[in-house]
Amino acid sequence: MSAHDPASAVTGTKAPGPPDSAAADRALSTASAGRVKVHRFEPSGRSITTVVGRGDEHWVDPGMRFCSCRAFYFAMTRGGNPSCYHIKSARVASDSGKAEVVVFADEEFDDFVRGLVPEL
Ligand SMILES: [Zn+2]
Repeated sequence: MSAHDPASAVTGTKAPGPPDSAAADRALSTASAGRVKVHRFEPSGRSITTVVGRGDEHWVDPGMRFCSCRAFYFAMTRGGNPSCYHIKSARVASDSGKAEVVVFADEEFDDFVRGLVPEL
C-alpha cells in the first residue's frame, strides 16, 4: 500500500449524494473517534451518555430524544421531530458498539451532572 496512491488524491469533485450524507459521515467519524461516552454509575447501573462536540460536551438522553446542545433546543422550539448530530452520533455509536464506557461510583453522580449542566 502506497501513501501516494494517485487515485486517493482525486477528491476535488463533489459527489451528488443525498444532502444527509455529510451529516451521516460526521456522525460516524464522531462515533469512531471515541467521542461518544457512556458514563455508567455503579452499583446503581444508571448511565449518562455524552457526546464531545467542538470543545463542548453534550448530554444525550438514553432514549436519544433529548440533547443539551443549542441546535437541539432551537430545533425543539420549531416543533416537529428535533434531532442534532450528537444524537445521530450517539445512535451510530450504540448501534456499532463504538461508545466508550466509563465507570464511576454512584457518589460521583451529583457532581458529574452539575459539571455537565452548570446552569442548574
Ligand atoms: Zn446536540
